[in-house]
Parts: sequence; C-alpha cells; structure tokens
Amino acid sequence: MADIAETLAQELPGVTRDVPLAPHCAYRIGGPADYLYVARTSAELVRAATLAAELDLPLTVLGQATNVLVGDAGVRGLVVLARNAETALDGEVLTAGAGALLPAVVTDLAQQGLAGLEFAGNIPGSIGGAVVGNAGAYGRAVGDALIDVQVIGGGQADTLVPADLRLGYRSSAFKQDLRAVVVTARFALVGGAPGALLDEIARDAELRHRKHPFEYGSCGSFFKNPASDLPAARLIEDAGLKGLTVGRAQVSVDHANFIVALPGAAAADIRALADEVARVVFERSGIRLEREVTLLGFD
Ligand SMILES: Cc1cc2nc3c(=O)[nH]c(=O)nc-3n(C[C@H](O)[C@H](O)[C@H](O)COP(=O)(O)OP(=O)(O)OC[C@H]3O[C@@H](n4cnc5c(N)ncnc54)[C@H](O)[C@@H]3O)c2cc1C
Repeated sequence: MADIAETLAQELPGVTRDVPLAPHCAYRIGGPADYLYVARTSAELVRAATLAAELDLPLTVLGQATNVLVGDAGVRGLVVLARNAETALDGEVLTAGAGALLPAVVTDLAQQGLAGLEFAGNIPGSIGGAVVGNAGAYGRAVGDALIDVQVIGGGQADTLVPADLRLGYRSSAFKQDLRAVVVTARFALVGGAPGALLDEIARDAELRHRKHPFEYGSCGSFFKNPASDLPAARLIEDAGLKGLTVGRAQVSVDHANFIVALPGAAAADIRALADEVARVVFERSGIRLEREVTLLGFD
C-alpha cells in the first residue's frame, strides 16, 4: 500500500488520502475515499485513469455526485473528481470536457442561439455524469444529441458512438458492463432563438423550484419511472409513503420520488428507506421500482 501511495503522490500531484466524500456529494453524505484526486484537465483525467489501470487500483470517477449515494464506509481505491470543464464549438458541434457543468453549458449554448440540449438546462451535474446516465427530462435525453464520446478504459483511449453505448431511459453501457471513463463528449446542435431557449430554461427552473425539496440533500428522483405514463412518485404516493422516515432519511413530503437526507442522515438510512419504499410499492402494486441513483461503496 505504501508503494501505491508513493506512486500516486508522484504521478498525481495533489492526490490526498482518506478524504471524506460527503462535501463533494449532493446528498452531503458519504465516507472517505482511500485516495482522492481532482482532475482539472482532460490530460489529468486520462493520466489518473491510466495510472489506476497500471496499478490495478479500483477507480471511481465522479462528476458532481448528484446521482450517487456513497456508503458510510466510503469508497476503496482512487476516486477522481472530473473537473475538466473545457468546451469548444465548431459550428453547431460542441465538444465538452466530462467535468463541464451541464446547466452552465446549456445556458451558454442558448445564449449563442444553439438548441438541442435546452431540456437539460436545469439538470445538475456534469457532462460525463449526464452521458453515463443518459440524463433527460420531458421525454428527451442527452443521448439524442450525442455524436460520440472519447473514453479511456483499461488504459486504452477509444471513441464510442451512441450505437456502442446502448443508451436507454437513464441508462447506458457505462451503467452496465462498460468499464471506461468519459473524457470528452461531442454533441450535434441546431440553430434556435436565444430568447425562446432561455425562456424554456427559466420556465423549467421555476417548475422545479415549486416541485422539488431543495432544502435537503438529495439526488433528485431516486427511482426510475416504470413507464412514461407511470411515474414512480405516483406509485410511492399511492402506497401512502410520503413523509415516511427511517433514521434521518425521509420520503419527501413535496415530491414522493425524492428521498431526502434530513440533518444527521447516514447513507445507511437512505438505503434502508429506499429498500422499504421499493418493498411496500411491490407489495401494493406488483411493480418493482428500479433505482436511478447509483450506490457506491456498499459492498
Ligand atoms: C435536484 C436534482 C434534480 C435532478 N433532476 C434530474 C433530471 O431532471 N433528469 C435526470 O436525468 N437527472 C436528474 N438528476 C440526477 C443527476 O443530476 C443526473 O443524473 C446527472 O446527470 C448526474 O451527473 P453527475 O455529474 O452528478 O454524475 P455523478 O453523480 O457524479 O455520477 C453518476 C455516475 O456516473 C459515473 N460518472 C460520472 N462521471 C463520469 C465520467 N467522466 N466517466 C465515467 N463515469 C462517470 C459515476 O461514477 C456514477 O456511477 C437530478 C438530481 C438532483 C439532485
């Protein structure tokens, strides 16, 4: 372990050890990473991913951690925060670093009269996280505009197109068996009117502020909707679970598909409540809710 620590310190300047992940997560919950590295450029992200492969060290790359629940015992190996936020436009083609913030990118595109991702203007998180989860809203998803993704997997660089990524509703090959890091992604945009695009983003923000419980930590919707006309929130609400509390975790009283962290919540509370919600919904409706949020460090 001492060798690994030394090598990491030499090769990844600034890497830190036994660092709590809670401050980096939307849930504000989570135990320590064995090693934490902040990759500020794509070259740094590639270097970290390559080194982890060389050292056979478990690697977890996070964007803004708005779709992960980190366990109380933390995450083993190297955790990398992707902060490579560079973007470039070539006509109507956007290239964005995995660490670029989705809302900032989309707002900037709208101001420049470029449409195609405006539905995602208020989805918190990074470009990399959005590709991995095929983030979306209003029946649209970032994968609809994706041209290709530059990845590094097992130390090898590659370019993957949507057909390689098995994109689906809040899912992709990255969430299944593809062990690769998103370094940059390219999106195809179309011309649009800046005013109309910015209005659409503002209307969505206003709607979210009315519906979402922003006062507590959460990852947004905890479960996937079983079907487009069958929201998980309705199933949870119909099962009488709004407000249900386990430890310091609560089914939000404002939005039944948000499992919020009340002050002092542990990851184990959130997980236990989510399991209980899924159990009761299945008992009442026969429908198995599938988590949208990724659990890290629970094994
Ligand atoms: C208030 C709120 C509202 C939300 N609303 C929506 C919504 O409307 N629609 C929606 O789809 N989602 C929504 N979300 C969920 C979340 O914002 C999205 O899933 C977002 O795309 C996650 O991005 P992230 O950077 O935070 O990813 P993270 O949470 O950091 O990571 C998610 C997963 O992707 C992996 N990952 C991240 N970056 C990389 C990379 N560069 N390479 C390889 N793997 C990577 C992580 O290891 C993890 O498994 C909401 C969340 C909140 C808190």
